[in-house]
Amino acid sequence: MRFPLALSAKIAGHIIKHRLKRTPKFAMVLQLEPLHTCNLTCTGCGRIREYSTSLKDMMQLEDCLGSAAECDAPMVSICGGEPLIYPEIEALIEGILEQGRIVYVCTNGMFMRRKMRDYLAAVYAPTLEPKLEELLAEKLITEKEAAKIRASDSSGKPVIRPSEWMYWNVHVDGLEYTHDLIVEREGVFKECVLAIRMAKILGYQVATNTTVYKETDMAEVEQMFQYFSAMEVDGHTISPGYDYDAAKKDMVKRLGKDPQEFFLTREMTREKFANIEEWGQRFTIFGTPVYQEFLAGKRELTCTAWAIPTRNIAGWKAPCYLMTDVTKTKGHYPTYAEMLEDVDWESFGVVDGEARDPRCENCMVHCGYDPSGALGTCYESGDNWKNFKYNFGARPAIDKAGLQVEAHNGCTIGKGHLAEAKVAIQAEGECCDSKPKPAEETAEA
Ligand code: SF4
Ligand code: SF4
Repeated sequence: MRFPLALSAKIAGHIIKHRLKRTPKFAMVLQLEPLHTCNLTCTGCGRIREYSTSLKDMMQLEDCLGSAAECDAPMVSICGGEPLIYPEIEALIEGILEQGRIVYVCTNGMFMRRKMRDYLAAVYAPTLEPKLEELLAEKLITEKEAAKIRASDSSGKPVIRPSEWMYWNVHVDGLEYTHDLIVEREGVFKECVLAIRMAKILGYQVATNTTVYKETDMAEVEQMFQYFSAMEVDGHTISPGYDYDAAKKDMVKRLGKDPQEFFLTREMTREKFANIEEWGQRFTIFGTPVYQEFLAGKRELTCTAWAIPTRNIAGWKAPCYLMTDVTKTKGHYPTYAEMLEDVDWESFGVVDGEARDPRCENCMVHCGYDPSGALGTCYESGDNWKNFKYNFGARPAIDKAGLQVEAHNGCTIGKGHLAEAKVAIQAEGECCDSKPKPAEETAEA
């Protein structure tokens, strides 16, 4: 099956339960931000600029677990900031799994291998030796780290264990050259690949999470999916980048750039996602086929931001993951129920091409529109069957062509903009390692 049966059944059961109860609005995915601290400063990320990134400003573990129980979403996406910096991340994941929910740990991948070594140390027994040998052979751990795992006495320590109900959701916006450019640091892509490989060897489920920007080369994204398909990655989230306030301000202030150079309009999104349905057949893409039709410009949907609420240290964020509105809403609410009740949801989103709020005009992001496809808010005959067939259908075969993809295509200099990086590379006349410089044609400026 495309996705594990128990998980698809859990989500379907949640929707059916609320339809029978005629609940007007309910949560499908909780975006939980226990902290906003991050070790990276990716271009286009408004999170680390909108909120305090001090480690002092983080949610208590009980609040995190309470929020998941409060909105009762079947899926919890732990994001941030970098959630693996959260000091109680192991207990948080364990607590949410104990509540019977599906967990996505949205990470930039830089601390994953450390967390998996902690897991190995906690469960080490001589029967694990073949796994350690495999990790050593692929240089995913060092001899020193293996010795530490063997000698460890951390068996009672909470760790992040492989689970059918948990996914590492690794942020990758392209192949090496592009990804390192966007995250504004060399070596991040390489580390993500190593972490993904280690996770697959240890039996974790892994997904990737990609944002598409104006200068994203969709042929490269396709290659990236092929590459990760060959690595037997379990799923992909892909969403258009959108110029929400915090990200826009960062562009102007920090990088001195016009956000229009970077983010997508609706029309551009449709062009970029023209092949998304075909990709949905070839790769394990999360998101309903109805949302995919919307992205490809074949139909309209209305925003259902209430179905993917965001909870962080300031409260329940209104109206959505992207926008904190203090003109029509209180910005943050103490409870999910209060937010549902108080926000005039009809004043947001785009209906039949008309933006009800100018800030929503170019938004087609998955946290606003993907649930619309699952909840049938713009139902067209056959949608339910389409969604059922997609979720419960066969998993796409591994794309062997991915083995030929030159994913490590060089690293970049410059800050988050391909044109700028090209100029910097030409000026310096060298790249950061011995890998060949990326071909001109891959750097669509
Ligand atoms: S890793 Fe995530 S939270 Fe950190 S800067 Fe990048 S996008 Fe933002
Ligand atoms: S359309 Fe929905 S998700 Fe997008 S910015 Fe507006 S309220 Fe937020």
